[in-house]
Amino acid sequence: MNLKISHIQKFSLHDGPGIRTTVFLGGCPLRCRWCHNPETQSAEPLLQGDAILSLRERVSIHMAIETCGYAKEELFRRVIAGMDYVMYDIKLADEAEHLRYTGVSNKPILRNLKRLQESGIPYLIRTPLIPGITDTSENLEAIRTLIGNGPWEQLPYNPLAPVKYAQLGWKYPLGE
Ligand code: SF4
Repeated sequence: MNLKISHIQKFSLHDGPGIRTTVFLGGCPLRCRWCHNPETQSAEPLLQGDAILSLRERVSIHMAIETCGYAKEELFRRVIAGMDYVMYDIKLADEAEHLRYTGVSNKPILRNLKRLQESGIPYLIRTPLIPGITDTSENLEAIRTLIGNGPWEQLPYNPLAPVKYAQLGWKYPLGE
C-alpha cells in the first residue's frame, strides 16, 4: 500500500519531540481558510491510515503523527495505537464557527479527542492562533475546558500564507 507524500523534511525541530524526519502526507478533509499548505489538500490524510500502519510495521523508530482528527473513530483508534506520540489539532471549539472556517463540523474531532485522551498515548494539543478567529479568549477558554490539563501548544499565525496563495494564482480565503 503506497503513501501519498507531499514532501519530506529532514532535521525537523518543530514537529514532535527531538530531532526527526517529518513526512508531510498529501490530503486533508478540512478547508481551513488560513491554510498555508493549500496545494496538499486534495484527498484525505487519515484515509491513508492503513498505509501509515503498514509503514509502522516495517520500521521500529519513534513515530509521531500530527492530525486534524477528522476521521472515522475505528480508523483513528487503530492509527494512534500504532504511534508513539500524537500531535492533535483543535482549532475552534464552537461547531458553527468550525464549520464556517474549516468547512466541516468539529464533532468527529471532539469525539476522537476523547479517544486520544483515554488512550494513554503521549500527545500534544495544537492550536494555530489565527487573529480574530481562533485566538479569541472565548475560543481559547473553551478549548482549555475541552482538553483539561492536557499539554497544549499555541502556534503563531503564519503571515506568509497569503504569499503561497498568490504563487499558486489562488485567492486567499481570509482576504475576502
Ligand atoms: S490548515 Fe486546515 S486545511 Fe490546511 S492542512 Fe491543516 S487542517 Fe488541513
